[in-house]
Parts: sequence; structure tokens; C-alpha cells
Amino acid sequence: MMRRKNDNKRYFTRMGTRKKVHAFVRVKPTDDFAHEMIKYGDDNKSIDIHIKKDLQKGVVNNKQTDWSFKLDGVLHNASQDLVYETVAKDVVAQALDGYNGTIMCYGQTGAGKTYTMTGTTENYKHRGILPRALQQGETNRIIASHTMNKNSSRSHCIFTIYVEAHSRTLSDEKYITSKINLVDLAGSERLKKSGSEGRVLKEATYINKSLSFLEQAIIALGDQKRDHIPFRQCKLTHALKDSLGGNCNMVLLTNIYGEASQLEETLSSLRFASRMKLVTTEPAINEKYDAERMVKNLEKELALLKQELAIHDSLANRTLVNYDPMDEIQIAEINSQVRRYLEGTLDEIDIINLRQIQEVFNQFRVVLSQQEQEVELTLRRKYTLIDKNDFAAISAVQKAGLMDVDGHLVGEPDGQGFGLGVTPFSAKPGKKAKSKKMFKEQLSTSARKEGASSPVGGKDLDFSTSKTQLTPSSKEGDVKDMLMRDRETSSIEPLPLDSPKEELRPPRPSTPPPKPVAFEDFKNERGSEINRIFKENKSILNERRKRASETTQRINAIKREMDVTKEALNFQKSLREKQGEYENKGLMIIDEEEFLLILKLKDLKKQYRTEYQDLRDLKAEIQYCQHLVDQCRHRLLMEFDIWYNESFFIPEDIQVSLKPGSSIRPGMVPISRIMSLGEDDQDKFSQLQQTELPEGPDSFSFYNAKVKTEQKHNYLKTMMGFQQAHRK
Ligand code: ADP
Ligand code: MG
Repeated sequence: MMRRKNDNKRYFTRMGTRKKVHAFVRVKPTDDFAHEMIKYGDDNKSIDIHIKKDLQKGVVNNKQTDWSFKLDGVLHNASQDLVYETVAKDVVAQALDGYNGTIMCYGQTGAGKTYTMTGTTENYKHRGILPRALQQGETNRIIASHTMNKNSSRSHCIFTIYVEAHSRTLSDEKYITSKINLVDLAGSERLKKSGSEGRVLKEATYINKSLSFLEQAIIALGDQKRDHIPFRQCKLTHALKDSLGGNCNMVLLTNIYGEASQLEETLSSLRFASRMKLVTTEPAINEKYDAERMVKNLEKELALLKQELAIHDSLANRTLVNYDPMDEIQIAEINSQVRRYLEGTLDEIDIINLRQIQEVFNQFRVVLSQQEQEVELTLRRKYTLIDKNDFAAISAVQKAGLMDVDGHLVGEPDGQGFGLGVTPFSAKPGKKAKSKKMFKEQLSTSARKEGASSPVGGKDLDFSTSKTQLTPSSKEGDVKDMLMRDRETSSIEPLPLDSPKEELRPPRPSTPPPKPVAFEDFKNERGSEINRIFKENKSILNERRKRASETTQRINAIKREMDVTKEALNFQKSLREKQGEYENKGLMIIDEEEFLLILKLKDLKKQYRTEYQDLRDLKAEIQYCQHLVDQCRHRLLMEFDIWYNESFFIPEDIQVSLKPGSSIRPGMVPISRIMSLGEDDQDKFSQLQQTELPEGPDSFSFYNAKVKTEQKHNYLKTMMGFQQAHRK
């Protein structure tokens, strides 16, 4: 009747379904069983307790005389064998399938907890749950002996069996790990009976307290609404943490006496048992993967698939295709195919398999990069390539006589050297010499007039203005953006071309100065404003960079301090865990040192966030400033080129013929713009073209095209920059 083998199957359902803690009661055999007070139900799952009126006064201090306890099974006069079958067998079997299990014996001292858990060493028949569980786990290998220390009734005793189960079929890479906790708890009796004193009393109090903590933890686990489980209240619950957890099969066996004299403790034990019975858990399997087996399985699968492929190939009448990685010879063959394909001597490259297709693409890349290198090498063999912005190098080359002032390499008629290759008009005979200063004034005049009728529309960049309005950037207000300009603010009055001042200007030098020297002049004259803004932007950029680097250093320092604080905090925590922890109504009690560390860490985190935000802002600013600096540099160089041409190469009568108000800048001579000039201008310009330009029209159109492209590019870049800045 007690054997419930079939029923047991119901207790341990599959993963994910909740089930209750199983509560059993074992009654210690006695000749003096209190038949009148303790009665078992017919189903062997309930115990009724009845106390006679006269006894009640002394025993239990309340009016109730009858109690009924519903359990999962009552074991009366049960053999160790039957107890194991009923209580432990399925828990152990499930542990072998990956579910953690916990079996606990609870009850007053002497009621039979240790007898149930470990049994007696001398009598094999009387061995307890622990040796039987080991035996079951080792699949019938008899355990010759195991130590059974007689544990004190004042302490808890936890045996843990660690299980790692691999499948018998080697191909199965899954394996499971689990553990079984067998817990022989300390006596649950109340203190007045045990007569403890002094240190023993203190110990007993603590042990009793740990039992009530255990009860709290188990109840909290059963409550699905609770997310905090007070495991850290005492060592017992802490040690059992992952075995009491919701993913565990749990059995509570309550050992009781059958004698009338122990009824009070018996009642208290039964109350505990029925409270535990209400608790639910949710067992889950602990599954892991064996990497070595997994590799072996994949290798096997790979071999199988290769065989499969070979069969497919032979069915499809394909000659034996090799699917292994390619060797050097095969790769060289593909390389040659690709070359022949590119030359046109091979019409098609046959597709064989995926690996081969990938290699074909790879070889295309190889051939392409080889050809690029070859082209560059050929160029280098034929020409000297110099960065056109590297004035020092250019000046050195000029000095050495390898290159003329226009950037044409000596002996290179097409001027493939550096620079823009403007035809040296100044070399033409019959040109009046005019000063640079004169030019400057002329230019500002024409610029002012041009404003209203810019041929490409007001949005286009204007390269002729010498006056620049400084517009604060949307960010800080101190970054100068030279591209936002207002021609209305130009304060330079138009000067007639035949102004007497003209005569005062020094004559144009017969040999133009070297570009580096001229560049210095330019920065002091027409380029002074651009140069000033350029320098200013650069210094702002540098300042921001410095700030960003400082912020980064600060962030790193904060991070280091955070790490140190975290470490200290962890140390405090581990200390607390070692010393045993206490909680009060779910509130954890920590010492002041740890509290201060927590505060410090919190503060550091706040600082970190603030600094990090600052750094992000700074980085955005740096990007913006960098953009402006690049633009300024570009403008400076471009303006210099124009100025240089105007000052030293373009015949002055051409410049004169472009009277004030014309939209043509002599330094650029933008031929395409001629279409949008006024009729008068057009006439003059076509005249000019006929008389002057045939000598070197190529360089003009090239320069013009370049300038236009750069204008467009810069404009788009700038507008995008502004749009982004406004959006912020
Ligand atoms: P506890 O561990 O609860 O303090 P023990 O297991 O040490 O109690 O039991 C006290 C004594 O009673 C031991 O000598 C033990 O052998 C005996 N005893 C307990 N339960 C039984 C039982 N079911 N059958 C036979 N002897 C028992
Ligand atoms: Mg004991």
C-alpha cells in the first residue's frame, strides 16, 4: 500500500511544468505508539492528531484539540528499502537526467533523521538514502564503504553528489550535469526541552533560526510573484542556493516520534511539513555540449556530405570534381585564365564549383592590383611626381633647374609636372608692366559689382571678393566660416582703372618670384584675411583637440578609479559572504565601509557619464572645425594660385580690358562663363580669345574645369555641414 511506484511518475514531470515540494512523514517505530492520539488516513497520505482535554492544558496552550495534516505519504514501520523507493529513487533518477535534486530530513533530535539519511554502517539492510543514491548513480556497482561520520544533532549536514552524465552513444555531444543534495538537518526541537545553556544555547538559537530562514527561503521560492529570495540570510540557505532553486526536485522527509510525550514537537514538525507541501518548484534540465564530440560529429557529417556530392557528380555526368582547397598550381592556372580573359584570348572561364568561382574573383583582384602597380611604376620611370602643395620641394626642383617657374618640367613640352600649367603670358612682347597692388584694387572693384549678377547664381562660391564677413558658427560662435559672406559689406570703393595711383605702382618683375616667396607676400596682401581666419580656425581646432585629450585623460582616470572601487567593493562583498550575511525583512545589512564604496562608485559613474558626454560634444566640434580648417587651407591655396597668375603671368592689357563690373576674374579666365557674360563682355572676351588665348588655351580650359569642379564640391560639402549644424 505504501509502494507508490506508479504514482511517483506523476511527481516528476518534464521541464517547465511546476510541481510541489514533496512532503513525506516517517514515524519512528515504538512499542509505545499513541494510538488514541495519532491516526493515519486510509490513503496513507494524512495524519490526524487528537489531544485529550485533560492533556491539553499542559501540552498545547490553545483550545484546539484536533488537527489534520495532508501529505504526500506517511511511512509507518517502513523499511529503509521502502523509504528509499518512495522518497529518493526518482529524485536520483532525475538527477541522472540533468535535474538537480534535494532531499531533506527534518525533525526533532532522535526522531531518525540520520538513520534515514545515512542509516547504520554495520547492517547493509539498514543503510540509508546516501549509500543507496551512490549505488543507484554508479549503476549497480556496489559501494564497498563510505564514511559515515556521526554528525551532531546541533549542526546541519549536507552531502552533495555531483553528476555528469554522457550518453552511451558517442555521437551525442549533449551531456548533462546535476547535483543531488542530501541534507540531514539539525534538530528542530524548541529550546525549553533540550535544556541547553550558555554557548550551546546560543548555538541552538542560531540553528533554530537557520531552520526558520530555510523555511522562508523555500516559501519565497514557491511564490511566483517574489523575485527576491533571501538565500543570504544564513549559511544553510546560501549553501543550498542552487539546489533549493526553482529548477530543482525537492523532497522533505519529516521524522517524528510516535509517543504521546513527544506530541508537542510532533505537531510542530507536521505543521512545518504541511507548509512545505504547498511550495511549488519548476525543475529544469542542466544540459551542456561536449565540444570535442561536436567536432567529431561535424567531421563525420562533412565526410558524409562529400560522399553525397561525389554521388551527385557522377549522376550528373560530371567528371570527378575535387572539392578540397586549391593548391598553388591550381591557383596559378586560374590566375593565367583570368589574365587571358582580360587580354581577350580566352572567351569564358568555365564554372566548376564554388571554391573555384571564389578563386577566380580573388585572382581578378590580384591582377588588378598588379596592373595598378605597373601603371604607377611606368609613370614614375617617365616622370618625376611632386606634390603640388609641397613648396619646398618645388622650390628645390626649380633651383636645380629641373623645372621652370610654371611647374613645367624642363624638357616636358606638355607640362605634366606640378601645378596648373598656366601659359606664361608675361613672356609675350609688348606688355605693359603693372603692379600687383593695382590688381588688387581692380579686383575688389569688379567683385563688388559682380555680386548681383553672379553667373552661377548667388549660391556659387565667389573667388573674387577680398572682403570677408565673419559669421559665427552655430556651435560656439568663435569659429570663422569664410564661406558665408555678404558682399554688401564690402567697403572698398571702385577705383577707375586710369587712376593716377596706377602710375605709382612698382613695375612687374621680369622674372616671377619663386612660389614660396610669393606665397609669403600673398599672405600679407590679398590673402591676409583668409590667412588670418585660417590661423584662427586652426588655433581653435588645436584648443579643442587639447581639451578633448584632457577630457579623455580624465575619463581614463575616472575609469581606473571605478575599477579600483569595484574591486574593493567585491572584496567587501566576499568578506561579507564569508562571515555569513544577514538580512532584515528583505533589506540587506552592510557595513559602513561597503556603503561608502557604493556611494563613491555611484558618484564616479555620474562623473564618467558627464565627461563622456563632454567628449562626444568636443569630438563633434573638432570634426566641424577640422572641416573649416581644410576649407580655409584650400581657399588660401586656390586664391594664391589665382593671385600668382594675375600678378606675374596674365598680360595686364587683358586684365584692363575686363573693365570693372565684369564678372571675369583674370586669374581664372573662366572660358565657360563667357556664355553668361553681358554682350559687351562677350565681345571683348572673344576678341581677347582670338588675340591672346590660342597660344595656350588648353591650360585655361583645364584650370577652369578644375575650379568649377572644386567649387561645386566645396559648395555641397559646406551646405551639408551647415545643415547638420542646424539640425543639432
Ligand atoms: P536524529 O538524527 O534525528 O537525531 P537518529 O537517526 O540518530 O536521530 O536516531 C536515533 C536513534 O534511533 C538511533 O539509534 C537510530 O538507529 C534509531 N532509529 C531512528 N529511526 C529508526 C528506525 N526507523 N528504525 C530503527 N531504528 C531507528
Ligand atoms: Mg542525527
